[in-house]
Amino acid sequence: MSLRDELVARIRAGGPLSLADYMAECLLHPVHGYYVSRDPLGAAGDFTTSPEISQMFGELIGLALAQCWLDQGRPAPFTLAELGPGRGTLMADLLRAARAVPGFLDAARIALVEASPALRAEQARRLGGHDPQWFDVVSRLPEGPLFLVANEFFDALPIRQFVRSGAGWSERLVGLRGEALAFGLAPPAAVPALAHRLANTREGDVVEICPGAGPVMAQLATRIARHGGAALIVDYGGWRSLGDTFQALKGHRFADPLEDPGRADLTAHVDFEALARAAAEAGCAHGSLTPQGVFLERLGIAARAQALARALDGDRLEAHLAAYRRLTHPDEMGNLFKVLGLHPPGAAPPPGLDP
Ligand code: SAH
Repeated sequence: MSLRDELVARIRAGGPLSLADYMAECLLHPVHGYYVSRDPLGAAGDFTTSPEISQMFGELIGLALAQCWLDQGRPAPFTLAELGPGRGTLMADLLRAARAVPGFLDAARIALVEASPALRAEQARRLGGHDPQWFDVVSRLPEGPLFLVANEFFDALPIRQFVRSGAGWSERLVGLRGEALAFGLAPPAAVPALAHRLANTREGDVVEICPGAGPVMAQLATRIARHGGAALIVDYGGWRSLGDTFQALKGHRFADPLEDPGRADLTAHVDFEALARAAAEAGCAHGSLTPQGVFLERLGIAARAQALARALDGDRLEAHLAAYRRLTHPDEMGNLFKVLGLHPPGAAPPPGLDP
């Protein structure tokens, strides 16, 4: 039975699904889930990401985390973790760059939080020499100092959408129109999790919440606050969710998210305010949200780009310069993508971020 048929049967029997339930089935269904059944990254896949665009991204993230480790007195051993490592490219580039920092790799225990068996296999191929350990969920990460990166992880976590309606909210649901999956609205109700949004929204505004993000942040933040460490969270989005950002990507193009369940990447913009709040509630400090382009420039991407350019010419040089521009330019990924850094209260924040 296809995922579409399964979903139609489920809606017939139990009524419409929240967007979060729909998204979870499409992305992580044990047989048909988008991430479960394929490697979606790269030119032949549906989307590409910063680490796949240039090695410079992972290298600079690696050196930034290593700087945090030095600033905090080189705790050993420590967990070096990545959430949603994709093909393992970021971690591979990070580890190569961090070899320049004496003691860092010897003290690091690599931990990968990954739901997809297909991508775990790819990660094992790339990173096997570093003896990584895989985890299904963040709550299983070891207790102890934690230095962590997450690039385009939070945008893949299922969201719920609500439309402001008087003093309440109508949830956007996935139901049926005839045989077809279709969006609908639940009757308005009070939503305690959105109480703080009544003051800053108007009738008809759409807001999104990501129920899974808060618990993940609480797990990271508790470890970092208690044992030391740092986290760099990179994703598209902004400070405070407003508007419908639910989207499907297939073959590098936007698609209808209801058209072919399990065959397109479904994401939403990340509400960094919600992530920061959850971290602060767990006792962790965080900096201001910083655009990716600004962050990478402050870490020295221009000098690194020049150094790499010396060995290149022709098409490879052109591609390298285009990749540099793509990661940093405000009209490309430089502004849409943001970085949130977490650090223990009283410790130096990660380099490159606004205080
Ligand atoms: N960070 C990589 C890949 C981003 S794609 C890069 O920048 O290239 C999203 C990644 O998160 C994939 O590895 C996907 O399998 C993983 N993922 C998505 N939802 C997850 C979940 N709920 N738990 C663990 N991993 C998840």
